[in-house]
Amino acid sequence: MFLNMKPMGWPAVMLSAALLLLALPVPAQLPTLGDHSDMSLSAERKLGDRIAREIYHDPDYVNDPVLSEYLQGIWAPLLAAAQLRGELTPEMAERYAWVTLLIRDRSVNAFALPGGYMGVHLGLMGLVASRDELASVLAHEISHVTQRHISRLSTQQARNMPWIIGAMVLGALAASKSPNAAGALITGGQAAAIQSQLNFSRDMEREADRIGFNVMTQAGYQPQGFVSMFEKLQQSSRLNDNGTYPYLRSHPLTTERIADMQSRVGAGAVQVITSSSQALGHAMLAARARVLADPGVDALQAWVDEASSPQFRELAPHRQVAALYAAAMVAAKSRDFPKAQSKLQALMLQVKADAAASRTAKLLGVELALQEGEPRRALVLLSVDPAIDRLPRPELMLLSQAVQRLPVSASGQPLLVSTLQRIQTWVTQNPSDAEAWHELAQLASASGQPLRALRAQAEVQAVKYDYPGALDRLKAAQEFARQKGLGNQAGDYIDASIIDTRLRQLEVQIKEASREQALQR
Ligand SMILES: [Zn+2]
Repeated sequence: MFLNMKPMGWPAVMLSAALLLLALPVPAQLPTLGDHSDMSLSAERKLGDRIAREIYHDPDYVNDPVLSEYLQGIWAPLLAAAQLRGELTPEMAERYAWVTLLIRDRSVNAFALPGGYMGVHLGLMGLVASRDELASVLAHEISHVTQRHISRLSTQQARNMPWIIGAMVLGALAASKSPNAAGALITGGQAAAIQSQLNFSRDMEREADRIGFNVMTQAGYQPQGFVSMFEKLQQSSRLNDNGTYPYLRSHPLTTERIADMQSRVGAGAVQVITSSSQALGHAMLAARARVLADPGVDALQAWVDEASSPQFRELAPHRQVAALYAAAMVAAKSRDFPKAQSKLQALMLQVKADAAASRTAKLLGVELALQEGEPRRALVLLSVDPAIDRLPRPELMLLSQAVQRLPVSASGQPLLVSTLQRIQTWVTQNPSDAEAWHELAQLASASGQPLRALRAQAEVQAVKYDYPGALDRLKAAQEFARQKGLGNQAGDYIDASIIDTRLRQLEVQIKEASREQALQR
């Protein structure tokens, strides 16, 4: 698992800062990890939560419902397959988070963190040519987790390995906020020493390949994806030096590993059979990842140009679709809405025979309408059927945003109420969805329910493991209720009692956390 998050997963400048941090006597800040001879599942989860908290609060953490849904759609079947095969034990399934974290970083990388968190760089999502290729990387990483490679590293190589790894990740994240602070104080030699210390062994890599391959094929992905991903990385290995492919550095592609894979796929292997629907849908989402990775003005302009070039019609359909999708996004970004609309219309025409791809294009249309300040058009495009209770998450989030942007009017009120109810139902079923809690806070505030809004804001912080922040919001809510007196609104009493309960729960959690920290000192 974690080797991939090893320092090489981060820009070199961040690595330097991580090493700086290592020089400090920091371990007391990290969760207790037992006697160092082994890391219990719950200790590993605590370390993971601590790291996740930093990532959630990092500006490069990407909250994108469309890409998250896509990633989740690939990730969930892999977890199910690993469980079915017994690699992922029931205990581990329950104790670990099993959460994916999207990170705005152009480098091609995915890394497993302690406790079942999986970071995925937009650069990886933008590079892969199919769901199968992405699945192969994730399956390999999941296998580092299920085989408990971190824990084995910590016992084999260094007694305090978890501390080092935790400190590194936290240091790297901190450095990302002030890259100049890192400086060139650390020499490459030291960096290399740490790197080799942190690397998974060749045996562990082989094991992650073997188990990952089985998990991936069990989940129904094309085995060829594993090989083509390797080949893609191999072909691109010349890019290593500029740091674009850190995954390669953490996973050197020995010819032996590639040969292993090819023999697993076998001579009579099924060739890549990707339905056109998957190809078009994937091409659009990969284009989205590339644009959101913030590649710089020139790269963005190149995509706009591609979509208008004389050779455009000669491109393969999936390339055309990707170019149009990217061009529409880029045009909207520079607030050229007529151009964004014309690319979107061309895109919709291109994918109209394909339901899944049409939906992806439609969601882009809704976003463009919102960016243009036309919430009514967004709602028309969304065309939510009031009779359908459960919307997919991207639709639900966009609906909420559109409703909030409607001018305040009596006619908008019923829609506000029904959308608030939809989001309330969603967070009840998905209490760890911070973005949904955020939408609930916005809608509650817009509909004049300040207590409910404050409570939802508290949950946003609690989900991101910021307990003091959550406590702060709840106390503000209590104070508000006290000053205003209860009973002005039907929901007030209920909201106030939920707030009291949550406040007590959080106080207990904070007390436990500080007791653990005290024990470490
Ligand atoms: Zn690996």
